[in-house]
Amino acid sequence: MSAPRIPMLVPSLPGRARDYLVECVETNWVSSVGPFVGRFEREFAERTGAEHAVACASGTAALHLILLALGIGPGDEVLVSDLTFVASANPVRHCGAEVTLVDSETRTWNLDPALVLDELTRRRRSGGRLPAAIVAVDVLGQPADLAPLLSAATDMGIPVIEDAAEALGARWTAGALAGHHAGTPARAGFFSFNGNKIITTGGGGMVVTGDGHLAARVRHLSTQARVGPDFDHDEVAYNYRLVNVCAALGVAQLECLDDFLARKRAIAAAYDERFAAVEAVTPPPLVPGMERSGWLYTILLADRTMRDDVRAALAAHGIETRPLWTPLHLLRPYEGARVIGGGATAAALSARGLSLPSSVSLTDPELDEVADRILDRVRGRAVA
Ligand SMILES: *Cc1c(COP(=O)(O)O)cnc(C)c1O
Repeated sequence: MSAPRIPMLVPSLPGRARDYLVECVETNWVSSVGPFVGRFEREFAERTGAEHAVACASGTAALHLILLALGIGPGDEVLVSDLTFVASANPVRHCGAEVTLVDSETRTWNLDPALVLDELTRRRRSGGRLPAAIVAVDVLGQPADLAPLLSAATDMGIPVIEDAAEALGARWTAGALAGHHAGTPARAGFFSFNGNKIITTGGGGMVVTGDGHLAARVRHLSTQARVGPDFDHDEVAYNYRLVNVCAALGVAQLECLDDFLARKRAIAAAYDERFAAVEAVTPPPLVPGMERSGWLYTILLADRTMRDDVRAALAAHGIETRPLWTPLHLLRPYEGARVIGGGATAAALSARGLSLPSSVSLTDPELDEVADRILDRVRGRAVA
């Protein structure tokens, strides 16, 4: 299969990426020890306003470590957004805990806080078991409506984890969480630096938290629970630390973050404008009081048939698109999981959703071509 002419999401590596990588090679600091890891953590914490940041081998590892540090294990239940990438739930199962899914709200496409509040209130009134944690995902870089969730969960002593893997740069601009960067208001949050995320380290992730004990525990578990300089280890743990070459790339990418976000948001705004007042195309949420990251621009079409038709029409011209995530309750490992709210909203969004080319390297003429071809297709006109 040949590479698409206009890919959906590819990394950009401008700035000092090459210099920092050369520095790793020349100093021989390529692996688990080296100055870029600590520097990446410090600069990342500063950029997001987080008190503590711990760099990990992936976003999946970051979530696994947070759950372990919170003591989640067999017999526990964790609530997870239904409409997300599968890695938002897998670490819960790695811990031996049980996943209960939560349906989406149409306003943010993220977990519906009203459904969670109803469920928690009902369980508490009937003396039922409460979940051990909640994983709230900021799908496509649009923050979830965390404020009501956080106040209820905090009251009941349930830790909330924000999966901000796609939301680096997103923030709340009004309301109870105004000024908070995505990933930071909850007990812990995490980001991913996989190749298609807002910044990339090749592969990597970051835990952020205001809880110093949690951060220390995550760090300890990520380095084989090593104590002291020699081979002493005080428990069974993991090799989940980010290595120095990856962190070097992370430092360089972080220096480009403002430019990347400006381009992502310009792309989203340009698509929004092209699709405004087009009945057949629903643009992604623009929620007052929340600023999205613009990670991956995703539209809704009338139904699955129209979505698949538009996707095929674009593919015929070398334009790569993807359906929106399949809700977890429709994936084999999670088909037996309970879905609070039923999952019909997540399933409808998924069936209609199409993610469009959104790389920071996407040019304006390319964007116009993508939009033109979609508009021509939904208006039923053939394009040569
Ligand atoms: C990418 C992603 C992850 C996992 O991150 P990796 O670095 O790929 O392990 C988790 N959750 C969401 C929502 C993601 O998009």
